[in-house]
Amino acid sequence: MKLSNYFLPVLKESPSEAEIVSHKLMLRAGMISQSSSGIYSWLPLGLRVLKKIENIVREEQDKAGVNEILMSTIQPADLWKESGRYEDYGKEMLRIKDRQERDMLYGPTNEEQVTDIFRRSIKSYKELPQLLYHIQWKFRDELRPRFGVMRGREFLMKDAYSFDLNLESSESSYNKFFVCYLKTFERMGLKAIPMAADTGPIGGDMSHEFIIISKTGESEIYFDKNILDQGEKISEIGYEDNLSTFVQNFKNYYSASDEKYDQKEFDQNVNKDFQMTSKGIEVGHIFSFGTKYSESMRANVLDGNGKEGPVFMGSYGIGISRLVGAIIEYSHDEKGIIWPNEVAPFQVGLINLKSNDDKAKKIADEIYSSVLSLNIEILYDDKSDNAGVKFSRMDLIGLPFQIIIGNKAISDNLVEIKNRKTGEASEIKIDSISDKIKELIF
Ligand code: ATP
Ligand code: MG
Repeated sequence: MKLSNYFLPVLKESPSEAEIVSHKLMLRAGMISQSSSGIYSWLPLGLRVLKKIENIVREEQDKAGVNEILMSTIQPADLWKESGRYEDYGKEMLRIKDRQERDMLYGPTNEEQVTDIFRRSIKSYKELPQLLYHIQWKFRDELRPRFGVMRGREFLMKDAYSFDLNLESSESSYNKFFVCYLKTFERMGLKAIPMAADTGPIGGDMSHEFIIISKTGESEIYFDKNILDQGEKISEIGYEDNLSTFVQNFKNYYSASDEKYDQKEFDQNVNKDFQMTSKGIEVGHIFSFGTKYSESMRANVLDGNGKEGPVFMGSYGIGISRLVGAIIEYSHDEKGIIWPNEVAPFQVGLINLKSNDDKAKKIADEIYSSVLSLNIEILYDDKSDNAGVKFSRMDLIGLPFQIIIGNKAISDNLVEIKNRKTGEASEIKIDSISDKIKELIF
């Protein structure tokens, strides 16, 4: 992509409405544009990141054997009346009437709808377990939308649902998602810690929030420092491995978010030296809630003895749009964003400082084409702004690597390659650029 042909409305100053760094940087880097409170449009740069995150989430769900579906954004209220949540959900739910005066709503989540899909076709234990997910926009009329996309009213979520015959089997599904989540977040360059979360009247220990440590997070977290060493080689764990032992290794260490936290328990279970308290951003939540919806909505299955009973369910969410902000909170410096490679909108930024010089332009054009031919995403700053503007814009948008073409390209066939994260820069011969870039990226 050439910058002269790209829609990148960067801002010099931080917009005053933004309280936290990720919100400021997303606005400054021209990633989003506010439509109304807590509702955003995604501009080219932001959309690329959103899609990258979405794709990682999708690939990891697929690898775990979860089936992708796409449920509608608008749902009939009748389903929610069946489960009893139509009244309970309160003002967060956007309620709509269609022209027939039927009650409809914009989905804040999809347990009812997916239970309805399930009960229409699955009747026997022989067809269990079933794992379904979708990636869809949600609307929740949050009381205090804030922090940009982190607590929006309209936001993109991956939500998955599991259907099992009994508690034991639902635990296997739960563990699968637990592992899948760790793999997913690791691929984005994040360390997400599973924290025991409230299970309410359901009880048990099958509810975890996945939280990234960040001083701007809204969750208060309490954990045993040792949990940070768990799951080191997560990418090597396979779904045929003993997941229950793996998950148990995490559960052995105390970790809880505010709703679940109990000081006495914390003190009893964790040596003072290992007690950690922090703030964090919830990027995912998994919850096995048994027959909560299947009972009220009569989603029954027959077991091996021909006995009918409600199916055991769980739901598993990842805040895809929130993750864009969360990753920035996790990875930035005073100059701007520092994208981890896997989610970067482009892997490489190419800056031509001498855009008025024919030779420099020719060199830049050639490097651009050769990097493109490697199937590497590259943003080419071919504009005629001064060096300061070019450097600060490129640093702001945080592409992992920069190729800089200046005077030495013209005189000595040398260009500079800079690592955005470390700031390390090296000079390299123009004809070895392709090899160097391949080495850095693949
Ligand atoms: P929170 O406690 O932050 O309000 P929640 O418990 O309501 O979240 P879930 O219903 O478990 O959230 O949703 C799954 C995921 O969706 C969350 O882990 C979070 O990453 C994301 N999410 C929830 N609400 C929002 C929101 N208002 N804006 C952006 N992402 C959200
Ligand atoms: Mg939650």
